[in-house]
Amino acid sequence: MLTVLDSIKLSEEYLQKKEIEAPRINAELLLADILSCKRLDLYLKFDQPLKQNEIQKYREYISRRGKGEPLQYIIEKVEFYGMNLRVNSSVLIPRPETEILVETIIEENKDNANLNILDIGCGSGNISIALAKNLNNAKIFAIDISEEALLLAKENAKELDVLDLIQFFRGDIFHNNLKEISSNFDLIVSNPPYVSKQDFKNLQTEIKEYEPDIAVTDFADGLKYYRKISEIGSDLLKHGGKIYFEIAMGQSEDVKNILKKNNFKNILSKKDYSGVERIILGERL
Ligand code: GLN
Repeated sequence: MLTVLDSIKLSEEYLQKKEIEAPRINAELLLADILSCKRLDLYLKFDQPLKQNEIQKYREYISRRGKGEPLQYIIEKVEFYGMNLRVNSSVLIPRPETEILVETIIEENKDNANLNILDIGCGSGNISIALAKNLNNAKIFAIDISEEALLLAKENAKELDVLDLIQFFRGDIFHNNLKEISSNFDLIVSNPPYVSKQDFKNLQTEIKEYEPDIAVTDFADGLKYYRKISEIGSDLLKHGGKIYFEIAMGQSEDVKNILKKNNFKNILSKKDYSGVERIILGERL
């Protein structure tokens, strides 16, 4: 007989050996998912024996996590901006930094209704859905190059009741003319692939081996998408319209200069909770 506590301890030891960060929390979260309870509720069940099928599933989950698969892909969900989103290996796992991007946009635009917003590289739909839920009647156009990502994003939008506020398009900003969608956007938002080809090699297994590479790296210097989006931004935005970018650590000066070169003004940055400049915004003349 294997109890909840025994199995957590064994799994923690195993994940520790495999050098997984925070092995205990990972072990608990995976079991909580299998038992459909909150992590802290496990503490009330420590002596409960696990059923055979639960043990089997837990073994599979722990083995996958031990190989480096991200927890969120195993349990197929993530919390973002207070919402539960489904994720799978066709999308980038939404990160807490991106909540700051969303928060900045909502803070600055909460008094504006009916905004036309373009979300470039929507992935799981996290940004579009958070904006749709928190802005007054925003009309959102979400584009992504990946068909699988769009499918999931639509599923998330439906689940969270904002499917009527978001239109999804499959597109590639380097090949499609987004003006066909609209040239009258109030806002463009993007958390593009910003890891350079060089830095990609040194990323941890969880990201490098499991997250979609096209969502993580631009296979160039990390600035390719900022250049392209800033360039097309002038054509797509209204006068006074704004671009909001998430950036990687160390890209602030470069991205500000790219926006300047493309005639954006009032260029500002915002820091994340670790004091790193993470968000850059600029206004079209
Ligand atoms: N917009 C999604 C996010 O912020 C996906 C971004 C991406 O794939 N680079 O998580």
